[in-house]
Amino acid sequence: MTPKVAQFLADRQPATPCLVVDVDRVAERYNALLDALPLARIYYAVKANPAAPILRRLVSLGSSFDAASWEEVQLCLAAGADSSAISFGNTIKKASAIAAAFEAGVDMFAFDSDEELEKLARHAPGSRVYCRLLVENTGADWPLSRKFGTTLAHARVLMLRARDLGLDPYGLSFHVGSQQTSTEAYEAAIGKVAMLFTDLSAAGLDLRMVNLGGGFPTRYRDDVPEIDDFARAIGRAMTAGFGNALPEMIVEPGRFVVADAGVVQSEVVLVSRRGHGDDQDRVRWVYLDIGRFGGLAETEGESIRYRIRTPHDGGEMGPVSIAGPTCDGADIMYERSNYRLPTALRDGDRVELLDTGAYVSTYCATGFNGFAPIGEHYI
Ligand SMILES: *Cc1c(COP(=O)(O)O)cnc(C)c1O
Repeated sequence: MTPKVAQFLADRQPATPCLVVDVDRVAERYNALLDALPLARIYYAVKANPAAPILRRLVSLGSSFDAASWEEVQLCLAAGADSSAISFGNTIKKASAIAAAFEAGVDMFAFDSDEELEKLARHAPGSRVYCRLLVENTGADWPLSRKFGTTLAHARVLMLRARDLGLDPYGLSFHVGSQQTSTEAYEAAIGKVAMLFTDLSAAGLDLRMVNLGGGFPTRYRDDVPEIDDFARAIGRAMTAGFGNALPEMIVEPGRFVVADAGVVQSEVVLVSRRGHGDDQDRVRWVYLDIGRFGGLAETEGESIRYRIRTPHDGGEMGPVSIAGPTCDGADIMYERSNYRLPTALRDGDRVELLDTGAYVSTYCATGFNGFAPIGEHYI
């Protein structure tokens, strides 16, 4: 938690649950990524946190944007982004959304199927298009495979077809999965991309761009490699695959840019021992006023394991299951991940979930069980 966030929480005592994001920290993370990968252009993945203060700050730093919907395109434009700095990166788009974005000046689109390519040819004629490859998501805590991407052989056919349809066959993309903890995932994917570049070049089609996607991890409960480790691995693989004929490089970080700039503050609603018998045999449950439906969707499968701070840290600790406040049985965050919290924890205590700036605010339900959506403060 940055000093600015700590000060805000102490001074303002905001209603909980709330998310507080230090926008200066977002800028620091953007600049750290730029330092690590100076040859790559950064397209911030808007879905990680589309709040206007974040988008405006990134515009001021010269960022480009990866938008997944016409609505996200509009958010970028409203924040001052130039349409030429927006990539429509979802491979699944309504025809009306493609047409609206094209009309607004967006000219870079992702696809991974014949059918989507035809939609692009019809509704965004002449645009730059890039094909998403299916790559291994091993090592990712939040995988993005299966639903997206296609094989090398199919991508080859699609890129040649893009040219025939009058589109600009611009490049290839992949996503190694979100919260990717293995640098090798990027190396393997770049190897695949380079093979297809060579193959298509022999067929008379020279691609110009590699989109390395996002996936760069945040340190939650467990250690992760540094961004410089990823940059070195990427540099190595790009040189091995392309020699000194390097194509344009794009990265689409979401989590890396915003996660550690944000903190969720929550109130403990109940601490109870479930079942009966000796205390040692009874599981202690901690119920917070935020849960899976209040924004903590990435605790699904206990995939993302947030660090939790309490007013009693340093005291005696004991095992807990941690759940949200709703009447839904799926509203459990952690049962199997060996969470331990202070035994002195009581209802009414305020606790903080750290590094929650990404993939929380927009995952929040609008009023399930009557609970108001999470409050948001950008400072
Ligand atoms: C979600 C997404 C990203 C951002 O991924 P992170 O793991 O948050 O960096 C980038 N590109 C695409 C296409 C995405 O769907």
